[in-house]
Amino acid sequence: MSIPETCKAMVLEEFGKPDVLRDIRIPARKPGDILVKVQVAGVCGTDVHQNLGDLSFTPPIPAIQGHETVGRIAELNGVTHDAVGQPLREGDRILWCHEWCGECYSCKILQQPFMCCRSRGYGFAPPEALRGGFAEYELVTAGTDVVRIPDSVDDLEALGVGCAFRSVVSNFEKLNDYGGIRTGDAVVVQGVGPIGLYSVVMAAQTGASQVIAVDMSEPRLKFAKKMGATSVISIKEVPEVADRVKLVKEMTNGLGAQVVVEASGFAPAFNEGMEYLALGGKYVVIGQSSARTIDFPPAKILEKYATIFGNKGADIRHFHKALKFIEAHKDKYPFGEVVSDLYPLEELNEALRVMREGTALKAAIDNRNR
Ligand SMILES: [Zn+2]
Ligand SMILES: [Zn+2]
Repeated sequence: MSIPETCKAMVLEEFGKPDVLRDIRIPARKPGDILVKVQVAGVCGTDVHQNLGDLSFTPPIPAIQGHETVGRIAELNGVTHDAVGQPLREGDRILWCHEWCGECYSCKILQQPFMCCRSRGYGFAPPEALRGGFAEYELVTAGTDVVRIPDSVDDLEALGVGCAFRSVVSNFEKLNDYGGIRTGDAVVVQGVGPIGLYSVVMAAQTGASQVIAVDMSEPRLKFAKKMGATSVISIKEVPEVADRVKLVKEMTNGLGAQVVVEASGFAPAFNEGMEYLALGGKYVVIGQSSARTIDFPPAKILEKYATIFGNKGADIRHFHKALKFIEAHKDKYPFGEVVSDLYPLEELNEALRVMREGTALKAAIDNRNR
């Protein structure tokens, strides 16, 4: 494949302003670097906050955003296999995680590389590095773990694995460390954007007796049912927290839910989730990424005998497992429909807008016709 000298990319140059279309020189490749043509790149809530400059951390600008990307291999530079041992060829589609240092305490001793203290993220790097999805090409640098997308999983089905689904798998593995979802358990999922929907579908495939989805959007609640929710609570119909808590108690024989998943990203939802929790319940916090604080009485943790935890991010195991999950269950659940709105690269700001305003479930940049 002949590689051009430059490619188009959308660059975040100023917080709170639209990203700008620029020509970026495709960097020289070193052995082990994989150059991909971006096929589809998801626009995430994190991208919206990054654009506004109000993430819980402040990544430097200018940057090419976009950290959930399906890439088609244009150049392998000596790489022969993915992290699972599957052979890689030009033209294969891959997903990849952030680049870990492999040497820190989290990487070496804990063997939890997603906690790497020197992680080099995609979607947060300067434009000349070409390490962001909102571009025609992206450079997956040597040392990054990649996984090949099975032929049976299409681009839109795979896209959600790049961020939301792998995070859900990572958190559900941690949930398993604490006993998991036991047969007959009730599960509440707060917020059914992509993280919530993948939580619903994973919970639905366990022995849970109920998977209850809570959200304000009727279309999202309808979709949650397609993904395996057994019942839904509409915040529009039941606007008071106390009434929603009462409803969950009624649905669970007065006990509450043994497992609650926070996937709304709305900080005050944490207090509400604690109320849903049964005695001895487990609260998995996945959705939170803003710097917002709340009032919370810590005694509630003891009163509920609660286990509360969360994982920020995931590593390549979780990407692989999410892809295997989709492969196994794609005939039963509409994974591809999680991606609701597609835009050409030049219309990234429109995609950011629909994500900011909450009118799209998941917007994505679609480069497949270029
Ligand atoms: Zn994301
Ligand atoms: Zn490390």
